Amino acid sequence: MRQRIAVVGAGPGGLAFARVLHRHGHPVDVLERDSGPAARPPGGTLDLHKGLGQLALDKAGLLPRFRALSRPEGQAMRILDVDGTVLRDWQPRPGDDANPEIDRGQLRDLLLGPLDVRWGCGVTRAIPDDRGVVVQLADGRAERYDLVVGADGAWSRIRPAVSAVTPHYTGVTTVETALDDVDSRHPDLARMIGDGALAVYGVNRGIVAQRNSGGRVRVYTQFRAAQDWHADLDPADSEAVRSRLLALFDGWAAPLLDLLRLGRAFAHRPLYTLPVDHTWTHASGVTLLGDAAHLMPPLGAGANLALLEGAELAEAIAADPADLDGAVRAFEERMWTRATTWATITQAGLERLVSPDPAAAIALFDEVQP
Ligand SMILES: Cc1cc2nc3c(=O)[nH]c(=O)nc-3n(C[C@H](O)[C@H](O)[C@H](O)COP(=O)(O)OP(=O)(O)OC[C@H]3O[C@@H](n4cnc5c(N)ncnc54)[C@H](O)[C@@H]3O)c2cc1C
Repeated sequence: MRQRIAVVGAGPGGLAFARVLHRHGHPVDVLERDSGPAARPPGGTLDLHKGLGQLALDKAGLLPRFRALSRPEGQAMRILDVDGTVLRDWQPRPGDDANPEIDRGQLRDLLLGPLDVRWGCGVTRAIPDDRGVVVQLADGRAERYDLVVGADGAWSRIRPAVSAVTPHYTGVTTVETALDDVDSRHPDLARMIGDGALAVYGVNRGIVAQRNSGGRVRVYTQFRAAQDWHADLDPADSEAVRSRLLALFDGWAAPLLDLLRLGRAFAHRPLYTLPVDHTWTHASGVTLLGDAAHLMPPLGAGANLALLEGAELAEAIAADPADLDGAVRAFEERMWTRATTWATITQAGLERLVSPDPAAAIALFDEVQP
């Protein structure tokens, strides 16, 4: 008899898991809280690394379609001083496909393909017992599975079944905005940003502007702040948030501040992480992957790891469906080792990017850029 498998969360990790299992002919229930793929804006752009996210898409049979959609030119990276002087300007070489960019929405649609996601299906918890795992749904129903994979992100409702650890605030927060049609409406800013991303680092703060597809630019401010820095601000009051940001970046070159002046709405995203060495005692029938397992600073690894973990766990299950527990145990060991390496790198990276010494940020780029 086939093992009953559920994955909670239709983010990059959950969808990669489901898509690779589907490719191998194994059914899987995808339980997603959002009411549908268009329930909320899909978010910005992701760079998918050759040995991580791209490898996962290869395992899903989707690499050619990724190549057709992705933007290798988005690998361009420019660093400016706070007075607007260009300090570094890296351009991808022709044929460079190490880390091309793809919009999150495009990646989600690519992975969704033939999958039959159960939208509007929030999960409140997973309860392992000696016959498998019971999944409690937000609508009060309960379902039983042989394996439940928690791919439900930072605030996972599956994680408590294996681990009591919760994310902690890093001391760095981001406030995000976006500009549309930059090439036609703001050509000077479009030239300043270039084909990929632009970053500027000051004392304990920075601004990153990154191209998405279709002339859209997302702008991320990052700064060290108490967790309640916005206690006296109404987050829905864009003008109040804008003037707070303009005060925070006071003295920076006018075109950099234009990125904030011209942004429409602002979204506040404090950065949380799990401990870099987060693991748990293996529990039969439940596991985690992606941010649910190893939430780390957003420095280009999280979605890549989630994708590869989803694909690898699915392949391991497909290779020997009778030994579900063996596949999960081996997967967890592999995931923990790799995730600890990346969590350590990205945690150290965040300390250098949003630091009292802006030169530390530039030195970091000098180390990692080809
Ligand atoms: C600004 C920013 C930029 C980033 N840039 C990059 C980048 O360039 N490259 C990169 O590799 N990573 C990047 N990351 C990190 C990346 O976004 C995450 O690591 C990645 O999305 C994790 O994927 P996931 O599938 O584990 O979880 P998520 O993407 O968080 O997906 C979780 C899914 O689970 C669903 N869900 C949650 N709770 C429930 C529930 N109770 N029941 C049912 N469903 C539920 C959610 O609705 C969601 O669909 C960035 C992050 C941020 C914030």
